[in-house]
Amino acid sequence: MNLEKSIAAFNCAKKFMPGGVNSPVRSFSNVDCTPPFISHAKGSHIFDIDGNDYIDYVGSWGPMILGHAHEKVVDALKKAVERGTSYGAPTELETRLAELVQKIYPSMEVMRMVNSGTEATMSALRVARGFTGRDKIVKFIGCYHGHSDSLLVNAGSGAATFGEPSSPGVTKNIAQDTIALPYNDIAAVEKVFAECGEKIACVIVEPIAGNMGLVLPENNFLQNLREVTKKFGALLIFDEVMCGFRNNVQAEFKITPDLTCLGKIIGGGLPCACYGGKAEIMRNVSPDGKIYQAGTLSGNPLAMTAGIETLQILLDTPNFIENLNAKTSKLVEGLKNIFGAKVQVPQAGSMFSIFFTDKKVANYADAAAANQEHFKKWFVKMLECGIYLAPSQFETLFVSAAHTDADIEKTLDAAKIACKELL
Ligand SMILES: *Cc1c(COP(=O)(O)O)cnc(C)c1O
Repeated sequence: MNLEKSIAAFNCAKKFMPGGVNSPVRSFSNVDCTPPFISHAKGSHIFDIDGNDYIDYVGSWGPMILGHAHEKVVDALKKAVERGTSYGAPTELETRLAELVQKIYPSMEVMRMVNSGTEATMSALRVARGFTGRDKIVKFIGCYHGHSDSLLVNAGSGAATFGEPSSPGVTKNIAQDTIALPYNDIAAVEKVFAECGEKIACVIVEPIAGNMGLVLPENNFLQNLREVTKKFGALLIFDEVMCGFRNNVQAEFKITPDLTCLGKIIGGGLPCACYGGKAEIMRNVSPDGKIYQAGTLSGNPLAMTAGIETLQILLDTPNFIENLNAKTSKLVEGLKNIFGAKVQVPQAGSMFSIFFTDKKVANYADAAAANQEHFKKWFVKMLECGIYLAPSQFETLFVSAAHTDADIEKTLDAAKIACKELL
């Protein structure tokens, strides 16, 4: 694999940006290799400036559920761009997208469009605190909710301790209001609520966790979170920025969170996210209420257009999700056959990931115990074989509607080669 032009481009980019990138994991620093610089993408494939062609399982970290440059989305965007790129004034597009979102997520009675998942979760926390008049929040170790200060906290493992900042620049005062607990550990949640439940504004959770690799909720974890929060008058926030639209946990588990955060797919590849929930809570957001939140580019017409087209295709295509999930299962079963019991390949709909461990992964500590050296070698070998995976075992992989049976076969052939070298 020749990456000559990417290496030159990377060296140039490093002069201007930390790590040469605008989001850390893109630098490929934890797999010790140069990130291919991308020239274009189409369907399930992504192409770099050296002319390499990869089957893409990153999908821009989740949004590209239709595959890249879907004709209908591109056509709609071309028309939209001619009408102007931003007005900072209301459009009918915003209402149309909200209607589509509500069709899929009826719990979002009232919602607000924002520009990134970070903004959605940050704003949802403010609403939870403003509505309850309480300061503390509960999150789970290994769940990522964007990079706002309150959420960039991880108390470390084990017992219920008050948060330590996980980044310089997050103040102790902010961190001490964030309580970080192990995922899937309802006993730890109940203990914290017994101690200080009347001070807790909300519990925020990825109902399917995708930011420590893929970790599924177990033993009625989500149902139990709903019960505990209700009992203590705290809000339950589902951060479905990643798992949303691919998996409808609210319908599947029959749980109504107080607030939901969406992102990634909702913008069809353009910057867009959304938070919303019960009307009695959301009506407290400005200008209906006093909780302030705003955005110059929020509800941007191009982002709304890409989102509308994407969601409309999801809703209008018969068996869209079923077919996508079946294709993903084929890939996941294939990987399980190749690796056997030495590797875990969890799947949730069209999301999957790979842990090099023979133990089931239920939380961050389990994920961190997997063999990262094996992951690194696997990643590099797959890249050489033309398979573009996320460069960290703490990330999730995505299958799109554009992936073909031939793509899956080729991926499994590459996995066989990688497996032989590894294990
Ligand atoms: C990606 C992600 C975010 C942050 O979204 P950005 O658009 O990157 O700010 C928040 N929560 C979850 C669950 C995510 O996967």
